[in-house]
Amino acid sequence: MQEKQAIKSSPLLEVSHLAVHFPVNGKGLFKRQVGSVRAVEDVSFSISHGETFGLVGESGCGKTTLGHAILQLHDLVGGKVLFDGQDLGKLSKKELRTARKDIQLIFQDPYSSLDQRMTVEQIVGEPFMIHKTCGKKERREKVLELLDVVGMPSYTLDRYASEFSGGQRQRIGIARALALRPKFIICDEPVSALDVSIQSQVLNLIMDLQKEFNLTYLFIAHGLSVVKHVSDNIGVMYLGRLVEISAKKQLYANPLHPYTEALLSAAPIPDPTVERSRIVLRGDVPSPIKMRTGCSFKFRCKYAEEMGDICKEKLPELVEIMEGHHVACHRYDGQAGNHLGKV
Ligand code: SF4
Repeated sequence: MQEKQAIKSSPLLEVSHLAVHFPVNGKGLFKRQVGSVRAVEDVSFSISHGETFGLVGESGCGKTTLGHAILQLHDLVGGKVLFDGQDLGKLSKKELRTARKDIQLIFQDPYSSLDQRMTVEQIVGEPFMIHKTCGKKERREKVLELLDVVGMPSYTLDRYASEFSGGQRQRIGIARALALRPKFIICDEPVSALDVSIQSQVLNLIMDLQKEFNLTYLFIAHGLSVVKHVSDNIGVMYLGRLVEISAKKQLYANPLHPYTEALLSAAPIPDPTVERSRIVLRGDVPSPIKMRTGCSFKFRCKYAEEMGDICKEKLPELVEIMEGHHVACHRYDGQAGNHLGKV
């Protein structure tokens, strides 16, 4: 599989202190709100033009909610999203609709994300219809061009989505996402539902399209092996918060957060002569409903005991430890009084 070269330019997307909570309602007649799920909490990062930001974490950690919050599909409790200099939260419905032409989504599951009753022409041509950008004849020509771009033959135009394999369906979904020539695409685990043999083909297609159309990506995945090939920078998410952000090379060479260490130990190594001992995390991800003090990783962290009370009492802030390498852990922020870290 191809590797990405590092790119440096100005930010296209800037996410600052983003927070999304979902109400939890009790039983009874009035179903009063009894709590809230803190799905995304105080998340900040930026993505430069032409860059890919890999976002990694276990299922339920808030990755997809964060992607949807960028698209303004959820009400924000706090924070803002600047896209191409525009604060998306301050746009009118009409302005947001226009801005969304530039921000598209590739879905995780190509089986459920495409309407089985629609033909390929209808699926890929739908964005042109919604935004009324062209007539029927031109639309058909554009759909044919898009199919060619994603490697689908022209005879598939009148076929139904249900007639295709997972990999072909994902190509159709990618063609649809490209239709309005967006600047930015949120790739929400685009290969996790595909056979392993197809995954690298679709990943290579996504990377080729980035070069061809000068695209910027937020690439969501649940493990570090997939994002290694596509990302420039990587953010690791745990229980709604970013716990580590770094350039790809630095993160793989020197993971700082204990959660990143555990994720990395689970990523397969292509060289059979290299051995890596796997770190098995204790327990499950705690409930995001309960308010807790201290570090949210403390119940599963192998260093929590030796760190004493600080991890139970104080939430670690995401701080820059080395240039571009941020981590939220008291082993590195000096709060524990002694520096136990390995930087
Ligand atoms: Fe572990 Fe403490 Fe760091 Fe949290 S702050 S990851 S509990 S060492």
